[in-house]
Amino acid sequence: MEVLCTRCSRRQAVYFRRHSGERLCLGCLYRSIVKEIKRAFSTVGSVGPGLRVGVLVSETLVLESALLLKVLGEVEERYSGLAIAVTCGDVSEKYLAVVRRYSKDVVPCPELGDSEIVCVRLPKGLDWLRLDLLAVPVTLDDLLECFLRSLVYEHEVRNVGTYAELQHLKVFAPLHRVPRVDLVAYAFLAGVLDEVSCTKVRRPPDAIGKLVTAISIKHPELLFRFLYGAFSREDLRTSVLGRGMGCSQVGSSPV
Ligand SMILES: [Zn+2]
Repeated sequence: MEVLCTRCSRRQAVYFRRHSGERLCLGCLYRSIVKEIKRAFSTVGSVGPGLRVGVLVSETLVLESALLLKVLGEVEERYSGLAIAVTCGDVSEKYLAVVRRYSKDVVPCPELGDSEIVCVRLPKGLDWLRLDLLAVPVTLDDLLECFLRSLVYEHEVRNVGTYAELQHLKVFAPLHRVPRVDLVAYAFLAGVLDEVSCTKVRRPPDAIGKLVTAISIKHPELLFRFLYGAFSREDLRTSVLGRGMGCSQVGSSPV
């Protein structure tokens, strides 16, 4: 018997979202991701037409970068805005070809600075792009990974902020409430996974990466407990940017 989508009750469900118990059709899965992106925009106080949003594209976050660029580009297009791919580090021609499918503009970042958000180093010298925002393609899994890495390797209980200000540029993580498994499911169902996975293979996960992946697949509700429980709301509002240098421009997190 055909199982209908929990949300729209009209289309066939194609994805069982473990952490919520919902069975979703592709359209509702897509809209739930878009909803989180829009929520992130409104919490950083940047909504409205005509925004220029940079998306950090990196081959260490192959799927996340491409999908964020795709979905954010579609959202911005509706509001006469623009999503611009900002590539960091070495990016293969094969992956660049994928990126160009989702962004007319692809610009290399001049250099990386000392600041970071959710363990991702941020570029500097982007003033000439006149961006309103810079989006970092990290998921809820990356928040937990970043927290655990600091705990295990540096013996430091770290506040993992999801928002920062670099000079006049707002940096945020619009997918930070989305578990990676949701993105992978969407990519698979929308036929995007193949085109991304034919590029450079993601570096093999270490023990922490494997642990977080196992949690994400088997007990995704724990990711949300981490998000809401491991830190107080006040902690989450406090961005931790960089380790020492470049921390003077830290803003308050909109979580
Ligand atoms: Zn539906």
